[in-house]
Amino acid sequence: MQKYQAWIDGQWVDPASGEWFETENPYTAEAWALIPRCNAEDADRAVQAAYNAYDKGPWADMTATGRGALLRKLGDLLSENAEWLADIEVRDNGKLKAEMYGQTQYMPQWFYYFGGLADKIEGAVIPVDKPGMFNFTHHEPLGVVTIITPWNSPLLLTTWKLAPALAAGNTVVIKPSEFTSASVLAFMTLVERAGFPKGVVNVVTGFGHEVGSALVEHPKVARVAFTGGEPGGIKVYEAAARGLKPVSLELGGKSPNIIFEDADIDNAVKGAVSGIFAATGQTCLAGSRLLVHESVHDEVVEKLLALAKTAKMGDPMQPGTQVGPVTTRPQFEKILSYIEIAKADGAHCALGGQPAANQSTAGWFVEPTIFTGVTNNMRIAQEEVFGPVLSIIKFKTDEEAVALANDTLYGLAAGVWTQNIGRALNMSKRIRAGTVWVNAYRVVSYMSPFGGFKRSGIGRENGQAMIYEYLQTKSVWINTNKDIANPFVMG
Ligand code: NAD
Repeated sequence: MQKYQAWIDGQWVDPASGEWFETENPYTAEAWALIPRCNAEDADRAVQAAYNAYDKGPWADMTATGRGALLRKLGDLLSENAEWLADIEVRDNGKLKAEMYGQTQYMPQWFYYFGGLADKIEGAVIPVDKPGMFNFTHHEPLGVVTIITPWNSPLLLTTWKLAPALAAGNTVVIKPSEFTSASVLAFMTLVERAGFPKGVVNVVTGFGHEVGSALVEHPKVARVAFTGGEPGGIKVYEAAARGLKPVSLELGGKSPNIIFEDADIDNAVKGAVSGIFAATGQTCLAGSRLLVHESVHDEVVEKLLALAKTAKMGDPMQPGTQVGPVTTRPQFEKILSYIEIAKADGAHCALGGQPAANQSTAGWFVEPTIFTGVTNNMRIAQEEVFGPVLSIIKFKTDEEAVALANDTLYGLAAGVWTQNIGRALNMSKRIRAGTVWVNAYRVVSYMSPFGGFKRSGIGRENGQAMIYEYLQTKSVWINTNKDIANPFVMG
């Protein structure tokens, strides 16, 4: 079994606890690697290393152009090693090779984009209203940034934070999910080969309450970038507030995917499938509530059932597989419990609703599941399941569609399927979500901001403005006057 070490200050090190824990392959339900169980002592070592690298030495002295070149080098190395990293991710989180390889092949773009942006961040000379005073601004890194990520897209969600944080000149300590730490550790070999000075990027692995919380609370951590569930997000937010640290939180969702009567129904059905069954529904932006106009409801359900029934479940490494296993045993159990809750609340299970039978391995498979007759007040329509479970809800009017779409604590994403541009624009304005797709679902880019309204999170990731989330502005005043006027009066 492969035994990993933590990556601190440019070195592979054993955890202070002397303990490791197993990570499992969701397809076989067998352990395949040992992950260091880091604790507060390791967190402290990693933060000190990151702080020293930020404070002085080659990284602190490097020009923004130099940082950009390093980021682009890392992007090139990622391209060359994309399949190797994707294979590790599939072994660890069970998502389709096609999905994970797609992500690792796309990731270099974040390093190119933010690498290119690094030396285009300019301050301003401000024509201040003070005679003889010269005032200018520049943007400086925050210091040590902690990145905490979940198990569903370990490297991609790390990259969303790492690329802008490094481009801005910060140093970083990453804490990946305890369920999927291997790919981020493997990625450090590329960080080293790219030539980042020691201490600029560090990885400590282990549990949220042991090493994650120690990072957030560490006085030398300047900012926290978190993606994960709501309970963890709240704990991180509270701890960061005690330290007065800026935080970004990318949390959960219960996103509406809305099919109007004038939609191209075949495309809309494909969009519904991609919204909930791709990635086995284990995506924060899953379109888990399908709102369907009553006049096309039966046609949509019929076509959806026909398409979902053909979904090929199995080995996520095989190119023909369309639905892989659920990543973790607790998640598998949670999904099945929500299916029972939906049934008990009176929803009609039109497809699936069981652990998938006839699999050749002991992996955690749940059948693609579709509930009809769902009302928006049912728990299945209000709470995040994070699995292949779709709730279908009927509506009559545009007003009702908006009201249903917004009747949720979340606000991460939404899909709108219509041929009417006026309706599309109207919906995109009225739906309270950070992303709205029209005649599409599950599209993201390094160039376009992503993040949640309401309880789906705080802050945005991606896009040019992102780099300012990792910078702070300094205002410098230079007195060109010969004499200080009156020292007892504010200048
Ligand atoms: P989780 O909150 O359990 O864990 C996320 C990370 O936080 C892990 O690394 C964990 O160890 C760490 N953590 C937990 N408690 C902590 C604490 N007190 N202090 C510091 N770190 C702590 O989430 P998960 O189960 O791994 O991931 C699933 C959740 O992530 C879902 O709710 C999903 O919606 C959300 N998610 C959101 C996005 C997004 O961009 N909005 C993307 C993917 C996943």
